[in-house]
Amino acid sequence: MENHSNFIKTIIEADLQNKKHDEIITRFPPEPNGHLHIGHARAIVTDFESAKAYGGYTNLRFDDTNPVKEDESYVHAIIKDIRWLGYEPKQILYASDYFDEMYERAIVLIKKGLAYVDQQSADQIAQTRGDVNTPGDKSPYRDRSIDENLKLFQDMKDGKFKEGECVLRAKIDMESPNMNMRDPVIYRISFAYHHNTKDKWCIYPMYDYAHPLEDAIEGITHSLCSLEFEDHRPLYDWVVRETEMPKIPRQIEFGRLNIENAVLSKRFLRAIVEDGKVIGWDDPRMPTLAGMRRRGYTALAIRNFILSTGLSKVNSTVSTDMLEAAVRDDLQDKAYRAMGVINPLKVTITNYPENEIEYIESEYHQDHPEYGSRNIPFSRHIFIEEEDFILEKPNKKYKRLALGIEVRLFHAYFIKANEVKYDENGKIVEVLATYDKETKSGSGFDERKPNGTIHFVETSHAIPATFNFFEPLINDDKNLPLLERFNDDSWHVKKGYVEHALKNTKPQDKYQFVRNGYFNVDDDSKQDNLVFNEIVPLKSSYK
Ligand code: ATP
Ligand code: MG
Repeated sequence: MENHSNFIKTIIEADLQNKKHDEIITRFPPEPNGHLHIGHARAIVTDFESAKAYGGYTNLRFDDTNPVKEDESYVHAIIKDIRWLGYEPKQILYASDYFDEMYERAIVLIKKGLAYVDQQSADQIAQTRGDVNTPGDKSPYRDRSIDENLKLFQDMKDGKFKEGECVLRAKIDMESPNMNMRDPVIYRISFAYHHNTKDKWCIYPMYDYAHPLEDAIEGITHSLCSLEFEDHRPLYDWVVRETEMPKIPRQIEFGRLNIENAVLSKRFLRAIVEDGKVIGWDDPRMPTLAGMRRRGYTALAIRNFILSTGLSKVNSTVSTDMLEAAVRDDLQDKAYRAMGVINPLKVTITNYPENEIEYIESEYHQDHPEYGSRNIPFSRHIFIEEEDFILEKPNKKYKRLALGIEVRLFHAYFIKANEVKYDENGKIVEVLATYDKETKSGSGFDERKPNGTIHFVETSHAIPATFNFFEPLINDDKNLPLLERFNDDSWHVKKGYVEHALKNTKPQDKYQFVRNGYFNVDDDSKQDNLVFNEIVPLKSSYK
């Protein structure tokens, strides 16, 4: 992992060479207003790996400067997800812990004549900012005296104004080509209750003022963020410089990660959670870390996926194939192989003795004998998949069971289908077959080649199971508004059986059901009601 070089590391290495810092310190600064998604994983991996590579560290800092939208439950979820991804923050901090210092620094600005209390309405301020082609108009309050500003700012803090009556603005340049520099608002009045500072404050710092100060206070050396903050960098630099912070952090932007057919926006994800369109933030279809974990994605697969997308200075959209490849790569070696039959069809082996049962010892993973083995039961009665039988072999490519055709059963014998039974609707409900005792797996029998290999589960030992299959949460129709693109048919439930050895399997156990795909035991799975989530199918060439 250490070997991935990128433009951020190049900057850090130059800074180290120039002895700019003794230690590299980064931070991950989520707003606690939702759960983390796979896009955040790019920021987390970038923040932590960039510091770790040079022996430095990373803080987790909750950006809780907006009292209205935030919620304590998200704080816990975010910490849990970061740890699950494999990272331990050096410190867990809250931007709101710095409100006092931010206030003091605002006074520094006022005293330098670099901030003023503006009593225009929010609308007036917006209307007088101008646009890219037109300079903004100076506020009539822009040239108040320092003393007057100090007094009014104190009054704002003391609750003497109503919400919206006035704001504190930085006095920078109303003609700047960069709109962010046109006297940005740095404090606003809000009488909202804050989860950390409670009722202490009725003025709150704006993000563009607060964030650079938070970084500077913590001694962050490299403040890594996504591309949309590029235009904010001049303001970031202005704030840390003019407030006279002793340590100056450097902001570096990287491209956002988007995934095809996934919406990486907390606002959208929160909307579908709140509307009950999904079962929660951890719905296995969600692109959240909690959802992906429940689906069965591993932390290593996600980290490797993020690293494989490369870090660049432009936003990128990556196909889900890459994500699926990363989890297959990880599970290829880790997941136990087992047999699960989805949509079962009964097969009776008419020449196998009634009431007899044998157990065939088989390894859980052909490349990993250390994973151990289990005894697979075999008898006269087995289930195969409906899909694995057809009356008449249609063509050469068909490598499954058919009347008069012989296939191998994984770990067991060759069987040949001879006859079928139908129900009153004409549906095939049972296949009558015969087996060849000489063909037992491992016996070295090679006189005939079977027409493919299929899997099975012995009926008397079979454990009933539910299998969940998922499709993207939104469809491809990019012309529709997001909420209308929601795919109501994105969760399919199928019933079947798994082999007996999986009886005591627990949530988060992962299997490759041979010929089907990789599956994860769902968090709500119970011993008497096993539930498996399809993580990814096998690559079609392996089917
Ligand atoms: P959302 O748009 O989902 O609400 P956000 O950027 O507002 O995301 P924050 O909690 O502020 O959410 O995000 C914390 C950090 O994660 C920010 O520095 C942000 O730049 C980064 N981040 C969020 N989404 C992505 C993404 N898709 N790719 C890369 N970084 C991201
Ligand atoms: Mg944000």
